[in-house]
Amino acid sequence: MEPILELKQIQYSYHTKDGETKALSDISFSLKEGEFVSIVGPSGCGKSTLLSLISGLIAPENGSIRLNGKPLKESTTNVGYMLQKDHLFEWRTIYHNVILGLEIQHMMTAKTHAHALSLLDTYGLSQFKDARPSELSGGMRQRAALVRTLVLEPDILLLDEPFSALDYQTRLTVGDDIGQIIRSEKKTAILVTHDLSEAISLGDRIIILSNRPAYIKQTVPMIFSLEKDTPLNRRNAPEFKTYFNLIWKELNDHAAE
Ligand code: ADP
Ligand code: MG
Repeated sequence: MEPILELKQIQYSYHTKDGETKALSDISFSLKEGEFVSIVGPSGCGKSTLLSLISGLIAPENGSIRLNGKPLKESTTNVGYMLQKDHLFEWRTIYHNVILGLEIQHMMTAKTHAHALSLLDTYGLSQFKDARPSELSGGMRQRAALVRTLVLEPDILLLDEPFSALDYQTRLTVGDDIGQIIRSEKKTAILVTHDLSEAISLGDRIIILSNRPAYIKQTVPMIFSLEKDTPLNRRNAPEFKTYFNLIWKELNDHAAE
């Protein structure tokens, strides 16, 4: 099967009046449909830059990005991007926040309206659809932001530290919860995080990036012998600690740099 996403030798630098910042030095990987990949790396190593490239917000200096076999620019593959801040508008109700993308893309129909309502229902937000964002807890706001992304039916979901603004307890439940949602929707997803536990509990595979300019230090498949492979069960599995230590060591090993 052709990969849904393929990156080959991606390089990227920012150019500002103060000079050049090399963000990515050589990134190649591919993703199959339905795969969930976690990307971890030190702060400032180029993780968000990588997602901006995949979403087409910026173009690589070198290398190629293909979606379903086509160059990014020619592709009709729909990429959804969920950011760290939920960016919900206080002057809109939750429902109107959720359908914002549909409105902008002139996709508001009876069908998409019904889909938005059913997603709000699935994710426990029905009774808050007419509420303002400030009336919701951090976790619920994050769910609303996810619904806003899912309603556009993305083929690939990009998640940039989506839980890091939440307190630890909420982050655990919302992270596991949203991870389950994405899995049940069989979405192809890339989760960028600096939280190792989050990466391990959610990913099929973990890509470890080096310090800036980032290259891939190692890719570790997450294999758990669990009857029911859920984020919470992973956290309590014996393999968890082994993976944690392995990735921790790799992240903190600067000997080769
Ligand atoms: P991460 O998400 O891993 O923390 P980023 O991808 O945001 O890292 O940034 C990588 C590097 O590029 C950082 O050193 C950052 O300061 C720099 N950078 C990010 N965005 C810009 C920009 N718009 N202009 C100049 N430099 C930038
Ligand atoms: Mg970032």
